[in-house]
Amino acid sequence: MVSETDVLIIGSGIAGMVAALQLAERGVEVTLICSGKNPTCSNSYRAQGGIGFKGNNEGAGLFKDDILKAGAGLCNKKAVDQLVNRGPSCVQEILIDLIDVPFEKAQSREWKLTKEGAHSVSRILFHGDQTGKAIMEATFKKVSNHPKIDLKFQHSAIDLITLSHHSKEITDIYEPPTCVGAYILDHELEKVKAFFAKETILATGGVGECFLHTTNGKEARGDGIAMAYRAGIRIMNMEYIQFHPTALYTVGEPRFLLSEALRGEGGQILTHDHRPCIDPLAPRDVTARAIFEEMVKTNRPHLWLDMSHQSSAHLETRFPTIYRHCKERGWNLGKTPIPIVPAAHYSCGGIAVDLDGRTTMQGLRAIGEVACSGVHGANRLASTALLEGLVWAKTCADSIEIKEKKFPEVEPWQMGKEGIDGALIHQDWMTIKQTMWNYVGLMRSSQRLKRAYKMLSELKWEIDSFYEGGALTSELLALRNGCETALLITQGALRNPRSLGCHFRVE
Ligand SMILES: Cc1cc2nc3c(=O)[nH]c(=O)nc-3n(C[C@H](O)[C@H](O)[C@H](O)COP(=O)(O)OP(=O)(O)OC[C@H]3O[C@@H](n4cnc5c(N)ncnc54)[C@H](O)[C@@H]3O)c2cc1C
Repeated sequence: MVSETDVLIIGSGIAGMVAALQLAERGVEVTLICSGKNPTCSNSYRAQGGIGFKGNNEGAGLFKDDILKAGAGLCNKKAVDQLVNRGPSCVQEILIDLIDVPFEKAQSREWKLTKEGAHSVSRILFHGDQTGKAIMEATFKKVSNHPKIDLKFQHSAIDLITLSHHSKEITDIYEPPTCVGAYILDHELEKVKAFFAKETILATGGVGECFLHTTNGKEARGDGIAMAYRAGIRIMNMEYIQFHPTALYTVGEPRFLLSEALRGEGGQILTHDHRPCIDPLAPRDVTARAIFEEMVKTNRPHLWLDMSHQSSAHLETRFPTIYRHCKERGWNLGKTPIPIVPAAHYSCGGIAVDLDGRTTMQGLRAIGEVACSGVHGANRLASTALLEGLVWAKTCADSIEIKEKKFPEVEPWQMGKEGIDGALIHQDWMTIKQTMWNYVGLMRSSQRLKRAYKMLSELKWEIDSFYEGGALTSELLALRNGCETALLITQGALRNPRSLGCHFRVE
């Protein structure tokens, strides 16, 4: 089974959807696939705080300085220049004029701008504490009605199709490394199809799901990074995983992000026996590490965040989604402390790309969190991830020229027959998540990293042998990629003995 398109985009968060829309507006045929059931299955949908824009009378210089400072000296200055110079016009032209995202306005009809940790001025556009939902719902409306976009949910990319790996013409190994599409699993039909494309764009998002505690959704297990790595594409800066200090600790549920603004409003972090223990306004990574250390020292699964100095009524108005989420789980934010744990939040590294999202392979781009443009260096400034996805979607789409391409003949996909025991998949995920949290988490040492590397390498060997003989399911595909990504993060951390930004070595 084969399908052909101009551009295949893998992932439908802000980066994938905006790139699809920009290309489609130029008349390019786009196939946009997404492993989730609907547009809520992305980290873009989960974004709470907002998207960087520009402060009143602000030039680009101050925003640039804030990003460079957060990035701890490792930012790619050309990428930061592109973000701050093109960011405001992309927000205006795409999100406001084309998509009509309902960002909040003051009574004067001017934009309401907010400020987050480490921003020097108020420059962030927002929509309550659900900015991502507002952006993605408006964008989805445009994308799903566009005649040039074929949007397919519950379709997962398995691997990139490249000339050197898959062409039946054996001398194609002498061609420059070139991507011509991807193998895609249709979850409902349980069938694999080769999708050929003149250009392929990876927009598969982050890697948080590889850790025990994460603010990310289930689909964020580094699929794009793992696929690119298997195809021999350059990956970089994987050790720089940003951990958010405060996610709500609940059993048997994904971690829910508790915005830094809660601490900005005077929230206190308390020990297990309810004593204030950590400066709540220290930088994000310092606070996250201090919470983790206290948890380890006292052998507790979480600490507490206390907002009881504020009335429930105020908190319900100021943080409606957070307030409601806590209440539904039996926690009244204004009355009693709530359980918190740090959580893996953002991957600063990924597939190495240039200013238009070009990777080291012809015919393949990467944009958004899956890519490493160098904007974030060793640590990310709040509210710059959505902006990066947006700006790179635009520059990538604008720079793609659709040229005729001869697609190679490839072998049809051979589906294995052996069913895989679900208990093994579940247990392997727990091994990955526990190993990454304990040994490759907030505080890393050479001994911990070596142990993790050994355990994950052995596990990878087992998973690869399942994969080779087993019937392919979306669960098995996810596990294979999760383990590959976890190994890449561990290798990155092991090779880099120097603490910088969000990579912290205890030695
Ligand atoms: C809780 C939370 C709050 C945040 N708040 C903010 C904020 O306020 N401001 C900000 O700037 N940033 C914020 N971030 C970060 C930001 O949301 C993300 O970095 C950004 O949205 C990533 O966008 P993306 O398009 O690259 O990926 P995503 O939005 O994660 O989309 C990835 C897509 O790829 C799909 N996918 C994955 N694997 C496959 C596969 N194999 N085949 C097919 N499809 C696949 C997924 O289903 C999904 O559709 C937040 C993140 C989280 C988790």
